[in-house]
Amino acid sequence: MSNNVAQIFGSKVFNLPTMKERLPKETYKSLVKTINDGTKLDISVAEVVAHAMKDWAIENGCTHYTHWFQPMTGLTAEKHDSFIQPTDDRTVIMEFSGKELVMGEPDASSFPSGGLRATFEARGYTAWDPTSFAFIKDNSLYIPTSFVSYSGEVLDKKTPLLRSEAAIDKAAKKVLALFGKHPKRVVAYVGPEQEYFLVDKKLRNKRKDLLLTGRTLFGAKPAKGQEMDDHYFGQIKERVANFMKEVDEELWKLGVFAKTKHNEVAPAQHEIAPVFSTTNISTDHNQLTMEILKKVADHHGLYCLLHEKPYEGINGSGKHNNWSIGTSDGELLLRPGKKPEENVQFLLFLAAVIKAIDDYADILRASVATAGNDHRLGANEAPPAIISMYLGDQLAAVVDRLKKHKDVKSATGDLIETGVDSLPDIERDTTDRNRTSPFAFTGNRFEFRAPGSRQSIAGINIVINTIVAETLTEIADELEGSKNIQKDAFELAVKIFSEHDRIIFNGNGYSDEWIEEAERRGLYNLKTTPDALPHFVAQKSIDLFTKQGVFTEVEVKTRGEIMMEDYNNTVHFEMLTMLEMAKQEILPACLKYTNFVAEDYSSKKALGIDAPKELERVKKLTELTEELMTKIDALDAATDIPDVDAYAVGMYYKETVLPAMDTLRETADTLETMVSKEFWPFPTYTDLLYLV
Ligand code: ADP
Ligand code: MG
Repeated sequence: MSNNVAQIFGSKVFNLPTMKERLPKETYKSLVKTINDGTKLDISVAEVVAHAMKDWAIENGCTHYTHWFQPMTGLTAEKHDSFIQPTDDRTVIMEFSGKELVMGEPDASSFPSGGLRATFEARGYTAWDPTSFAFIKDNSLYIPTSFVSYSGEVLDKKTPLLRSEAAIDKAAKKVLALFGKHPKRVVAYVGPEQEYFLVDKKLRNKRKDLLLTGRTLFGAKPAKGQEMDDHYFGQIKERVANFMKEVDEELWKLGVFAKTKHNEVAPAQHEIAPVFSTTNISTDHNQLTMEILKKVADHHGLYCLLHEKPYEGINGSGKHNNWSIGTSDGELLLRPGKKPEENVQFLLFLAAVIKAIDDYADILRASVATAGNDHRLGANEAPPAIISMYLGDQLAAVVDRLKKHKDVKSATGDLIETGVDSLPDIERDTTDRNRTSPFAFTGNRFEFRAPGSRQSIAGINIVINTIVAETLTEIADELEGSKNIQKDAFELAVKIFSEHDRIIFNGNGYSDEWIEEAERRGLYNLKTTPDALPHFVAQKSIDLFTKQGVFTEVEVKTRGEIMMEDYNNTVHFEMLTMLEMAKQEILPACLKYTNFVAEDYSSKKALGIDAPKELERVKKLTELTEELMTKIDALDAATDIPDVDAYAVGMYYKETVLPAMDTLRETADTLETMVSKEFWPFPTYTDLLYLV
């Protein structure tokens, strides 16, 4: 089957060729217009589309359809209805109306609404997103939808993402108009590189922590870690290769442009990346990718760990968010032009991104704040929690020179224009890499490296789209009515470069010097989720999102609350799981093993054999086991959560619970290195990382 990828690609998708084949010409035309231009769809068109979709789905084995949506949990949700419709003679016919395609009413009550439901009568309904194609999975027709409440509050991640796309479209077009360009649309793109770990399913099931929390809460370092660097881009093991092959095929059938796959830095860690598409479609596809990775792993006796930090001391998993903007005419706006005049426009868009990241670094940081990602950011393997930007040596040099020109200008008057003429060709420079930077320019896009592997990319791209829309709007306003756009735009870009200099950092982001330097520069260093999330709900953030029409004030607040609660629930659950493992598995094992050594010692002593080292072992084991019990009691005491608001509870988890968990783990991990493997209650790091 895989021989002909072109043939299987999109075979389970109601895509353009299928629509063209199955829809009347006029219907097809108006649907395509809706998809491309965002025009409103007529219900009579929806009726025809629904009919064709149903026939196609049934021919392909479907019995059900579902409105597929993305609640604020960051996961996807679905409720399946069959196509059956009873008839008078008590048989059924298969039906699917335009109304059923366009709108659905899932029971919204068990999805998080961050208090929205209390404030409003928030029954939810789902609304078809025709820009993301319907597809078939497990004998159901999946219809991508938005999810909103009857009073209009957004209950999902897709709706605000679409709004943020509209915001950037509007703002970028305003800027382009100044240059005499009038593309139909400006689109935000993303190509997410998805990292993940594979683990043998049977071994994973023996560990309560992996089973319940997705990460190991205990585990001594393996003898062979990742220091050998022999895994990155290394040969792919057969079982893994077979898994990857099936993943690709499944994704291709679903119309996902799965492109690149390779081993990552850590043992048993891998990556899959698609060809980029719009932020909306890429988000849907990334959700599908995560789901397919899990599902296919199961077919191969494997389990796919999407957690940001499944193993302590081993690299975590991120999701590099390669972001750019381009016009419907195919012009990438963050690609340096061939001629200096084109470069003025490029420099202006570049300036907009730089200003956006500097002005809203705290909100961008908050968009990647999760309990899982806290273990990764700043851990000398992922970018630091400090947001900064890397431009590459060449572009940084250009920007630097321009800033200096500007300084000269005040003295001599007209150097700016000369500046435009003397702008060098800025070549695409993709070899230039700085893996320690959270937001790096890579030739025609920016790579945001802070997102966590398990996160939906919706929230991240809502923020990037919105902050860049905001700075583009400001730029367009400032340049409105310009008589000499080349000169004025250039001047403004250079001014922005100078004013936002502090966000550019081309050095080593992992170094301690950078932490100090960043502090001197006045950059944020929001180390953890409880530090970061208050910034998401601050007035500055509310002003931004309301101005750009992406969230209302209530929506910003509820989202912040939901993210905070997610953090709190995650840590809470980890704490309980840890206690259970420590009390029911680790402690008994330590007691048993200590007794085993003690008895061995006693019998030797009875025979008159001197075994001082063994006695020392018994003492050491006893001492550590006592310590383990003390720390279990301390963590037990910490389970008494103060009755305060979510943000204060978050601080409690950070300041009281997590340190208690860390120290309990430390003792348990030391014991693991001393206790016989026979007695140890669950698979070790070596088993998990190397038996894949
Ligand atoms: P690397 O690991 O070297 O950074 P990959 O090939 O693994 O690169 O992934 C790069 C990702 O960036 C891919 O998903 C690719 O489609 C995406 N990408 C390339 N160009 C753009 C662009 N202009 N806008 C958004 N994403 C892009
Ligand atoms: Mg890559």
